This record gives sequence, structure tokens and C-alpha cells, in this order.
Amino acid sequence: MSVTSLEQLEKRLRLTKEELSWKEGPLSVPLCITEHYLGLINPNDPADPLRRQVVPTCHENMSDDSESPDPLEEVCHSQGERLIHRYRSRVAFLATDICPMYCRHCFRRRFTGNMMGPASENDIQNVASYLRDNPYISEMLLTGGDPLTLSDAELDHMIGIFRKASPHLIIRICTRYPVSQPERITEALVAMFKRHSSAPFYLMTQFNHPRELTPESIRAVSLFVDAGIPAMNQSVLLKGVNDDADTLEELCNGLLFNRIKPYYLFQGDMVSGTSYFRVSLKKGMEIEQELRRRLSGLAMPVYTADLPDGGGKVPLCGSYIVKSPDKEKGSWLFRTPDGETRVITDPQS
Ligand SMILES: *Cc1c(COP(=O)(O)O)cnc(C)c1O
Ligand code: SF4
Repeated sequence: MSVTSLEQLEKRLRLTKEELSWKEGPLSVPLCITEHYLGLINPNDPADPLRRQVVPTCHENMSDDSESPDPLEEVCHSQGERLIHRYRSRVAFLATDICPMYCRHCFRRRFTGNMMGPASENDIQNVASYLRDNPYISEMLLTGGDPLTLSDAELDHMIGIFRKASPHLIIRICTRYPVSQPERITEALVAMFKRHSSAPFYLMTQFNHPRELTPESIRAVSLFVDAGIPAMNQSVLLKGVNDDADTLEELCNGLLFNRIKPYYLFQGDMVSGTSYFRVSLKKGMEIEQELRRRLSGLAMPVYTADLPDGGGKVPLCGSYIVKSPDKEKGSWLFRTPDGETRVITDPQS
């Protein structure tokens, strides 16, 4: 059973003043913590990085002027309520707004946890015709909410329709279940995906802290990877959770060791009520540079911001180009990660 109220939570953790004074507002995601995740929280540490991700505080009720409910302008890039088409070749489909556990840093809080439930048959058919009408769409992010809150049968039905409309559509399964409730991932679920293999699936996870990589979580992801579905991780850089190079180094190496490729490390979006999680860009870039010194290329995620006003994703890695030539061809000066310099000269012919 998941914990869904402060009263229930108080029986498990001694809540702080900040936690007790949280008020559920129009933009907050519900309070819901799974038994699995609650078991990972150290009850004696009020600043536990796992606790911080799921136990709300009054800081959530504050919003500063630079924030907005929808900084990525997903709503105006949507076809209908649930299909976001921002990049030409790929779409994001919000299969449901429900999650088994809600993250306090959720950037899609305008939508997540509104209890609308799974997309209707009509929504699904509309997406299918959109895919048919726009054959240059080659990838779909199946997201939400958490799409694996749908039953295996519902997912089977939905994916069957998308695959029929677009047999070569790559589908990314974006889910936090391996972290929040790994027992959801079963042989039967993975076998269902495998039955639709006219195009690849990718599993997109969200591990933010090395302590989330439990044996149960690793088993859940392994079921996918063993079945030929590669796993990629998208972390969010979160103050008080993972905003130091040691924690992220351990996380990324742990992920890689368990066949999960660290893909993105996201700068926190400018979403209302999340400022207490946001790390300054300067600090984020320092962490990124330190990680580049320590991690292998495979273990290194791309530090990325999704720009406000719907600007899209851009990498935030510090540039290693010190000086570019004035002419079309010439010499480029680089700095190395260790602070030395090197030159690359373009061919003259
Ligand atoms: C992030 C995102 C994608 C995927 O972007 P990639 O850089 O290919 O991972 C697609 N659509 C939307 C709306 C997104 O936010
Ligand atoms: S799992 Fe994803 S959609 Fe659900 S609350 Fe967390 S960040 Fe938001």
C-alpha cells in the first residue's frame, strides 16, 4: 500500500515543520509514495536525498516570477490534449496523467496527477491518424504520467494501434517504475512489448540517486535489457539530492554497470513551485566538467536544459573551443579537460 496523506506519513517518518506545513495547491502533484521507495528512505535523516524527492514541503507553495506552469510551452505545441509535437521527427504521447508515486520536482505538474486517467480510445485513434498523416515522425515517447500505470492489456491494445499506423515507429517507454515500484515490471509485461517488435523499443528510466539502484530495480531493468530493449537514463539535477560530482559519479557508474546508459542530466525546468530544487547553471556546469574528467564516455550523460518559452533542448556542456579561426579554414584552439591547450588545423585544400 502506498502512503497518500501526511497523517499516514507521520506514522512512518518524523515530519519536519516545512513538511507539515505543505498545502496541496492547484499546481501541486498529489502526495503518493510507494512502499518500496518509502523503505529506502532513512527515517533518521530529515535531509535524505530520497525523502526530498517525494515528501512535499511548504517550499512547493512558493513560486517566483521567472517560473511558469508550462515553461516548455508544451500546450501550444500539442495536437489535442495529449500529443506534443515539438521536434519534427518525434512526438511525445501523454498516455496517462497518473503515476504510482509522485516526484516533487515533476516538471509536467500542469498535467500530472490531475486524475484524468488513461487516454481514451478516441485519443488513441486520433494519434494513430496523426502518425499516418505525418510519416516523417520516426520516434514516439510514450510518457505521461507513467504509462506503465496502464494494464498490460491496455498497453498491448494501444501499442498495437500505433505500430499498425506506423510500423517503423521507435517507441521510448518513459517510466519511473523501476525506481518507484519495480515489481510492476514482469516477464509478461516485457513479453507483451516484444510481440510488437516491427521497430525497437527503448526503456527510458529516471534514476536520480545511487541509492535508488536497488537489487529489485536492477532486476526490473534487466528484464528489458535481456529481452533486447536497451535502457537509457534521464536524471534531473536536483539541489540537495544529487548536486555534487561524487553522487553523480557513483550514480552514472552504477547505471552503466547495470547496462543503463546515462543519457541526459537535466537542468531543472523553470516550473512553478520547483525553485528550491534548482541548481545554478554555474554550479551545474562545474559539476559537468568534473564529471567529464572522471567518467568514461559511455558513463557520461549530456547536461541539458529545456529552454523556456518552448525553445527546446540544448546541451549545456562548457565549450572546449577557446578560439575559432576568423577565416573559413584555419586553426582552432582547444582547452583540454585538465586545463591545457591544443590546436587542430583545418586542411588547406
Ligand atoms: C525531450 C523531448 C523529446 C525527445 O528529445 P530527444 O532529444 O530526442 O531525447 C521529444 N519531444 C518532446 C516534447 C520532448 O520534450
Ligand atoms: S514519474 Fe515523471 S511524470 Fe510522474 S511525477 Fe515523477 S517526474 Fe512527474
